[in-house]
Amino acid sequence: MTDKIFTKEEWLERLVGVKGDYRVFVPVKDGDFHMFAPIDNGKKPDFNYQNTRLSPKGLVYPQSERMFEYSLDKQDEDAFILKEAPKDYAPQAVVGIRPCDAQAFQIVKINFDNKEYQDPWWVQRFESSVLIGLGCNEPCDTCFCTSVGGGPFSEKGLDALLIDLGDAFLFRVISDKGQAFLDKMGGGAEAGQEQVEKARRLAQDAEGRMTSHVPTDKLKDRVVLDLFNAPFWEEVAFACINCGTCTYLCPTCWCFDIQDETYGKQGDRLRNWDSCMYPLFTLHGSGHNPRDKKFQRVRQRFMHKLKYYVDKYGDGVQCSGCGRCVRYCPVNIDIRKVCARMNAYEG
Ligand code: SF4
Ligand code: SF4
Repeated sequence: MTDKIFTKEEWLERLVGVKGDYRVFVPVKDGDFHMFAPIDNGKKPDFNYQNTRLSPKGLVYPQSERMFEYSLDKQDEDAFILKEAPKDYAPQAVVGIRPCDAQAFQIVKINFDNKEYQDPWWVQRFESSVLIGLGCNEPCDTCFCTSVGGGPFSEKGLDALLIDLGDAFLFRVISDKGQAFLDKMGGGAEAGQEQVEKARRLAQDAEGRMTSHVPTDKLKDRVVLDLFNAPFWEEVAFACINCGTCTYLCPTCWCFDIQDETYGKQGDRLRNWDSCMYPLFTLHGSGHNPRDKKFQRVRQRFMHKLKYYVDKYGDGVQCSGCGRCVRYCPVNIDIRKVCARMNAYEG
């Protein structure tokens, strides 16, 4: 497919110009961190960044989503009937998403869009999204995407890939959605051989600069009960404060809870991200809690990502190697070390 070259000035102008066709989300600096925000929120897009603190998963799977609404007013004809809350599936473009976060959507898709079950809201929002990636010229030392099937310039799950050549961006179309975005945006010049070669070299250099390599090759051969009963879980979990940071920042965590909120005689049924690191997550109505100990919750997080998922889907691990949980865990619990232990554990 086509490679186009945009000067950085033209790129920003074209992005602003495509606002009528897509809701455009771009990385912006917010205090000490970056986040995705609509292009017209008054903050300048900043593509010179490593990654956002919060992953962009919330653009497809909101942290809190109104599923249904209802009335508790007996006078209303439709009192006590759940009605689907209005949803917005306008086309949106996530521009500058890192390849690990695009791959994460493919991992999450296995849960929300499979043969047995399609989550209507996730599917529609995902289908109305176009993902324009940004290759990582300078991967962080906590990233390990190359160990889990990705790479700093991986095209997996992307509709187009941007490559920062310094004075310009190379725009590479990957899917029909990416081509449609380019057609709407217009502009750009055909990339020359020299620019394509520079992009190739940047990708090769970035792979060479990856410092974290995590062994995952034996996970599928390990016996699930051996790993479950392994002696290291208390030690792994010792420092954890059950803050939930790892799961909330993770682009591949998908668990949610459903809650009702009422205001006078009107009510909403909401689904909110939840975290297996919280004791209440598994509390039964009877009062019984099958994971009332911290080590059980920490074990669950790692076993789900690195063993149950592996065994159930036979397609990699439930982690895209973005490194967020490594960077932001306040007590330095490191999935790379836990994965290496699990991979090596022979029972
Ligand atoms: S971020 Fe660290 S301390 Fe917080 S719940 Fe996760 S593992 Fe525990
Ligand atoms: S488990 Fe950690 S490294 Fe893997 S995708 Fe989630 S936040 Fe990123």
